[in-house]
Amino acid sequence: METRLDRAKEIVRLGKIRRVGPERFEAVGSNGEIYTVCPRVNYCSCPDNRERLVTCKHLLAAELIVGTERRATARRKKSESLRGVVPLKTVLAGLDRMHD
Ligand SMILES: [Zn+2]
Repeated sequence: METRLDRAKEIVRLGKIRRVGPERFEAVGSNGEIYTVCPRVNYCSCPDNRERLVTCKHLLAAELIVGTERRATARRKKSESLRGVVPLKTVLAGLDRMHD
């Protein structure tokens, strides 16, 4: 059986969701309707989310995108530090934060 996560991945793969702001996405519904999705506050304007109060596939799709971006950023930071591009000051600041 197809899970909601499967459908969310499908939405991302088909490009039926796109970022329109720092915390906002727009998803295209099955009938062409446009839904506003704000993963940070768990909001989506689709009926699934509004009426049944469930985490809908659009929210999951938005979270998949946010997670992918976050991993890409982390990877970039790591490779930069390996190449010695990150200034010593930044490295020291990172060490300070680890003691918090
Ligand atoms: Zn939705």
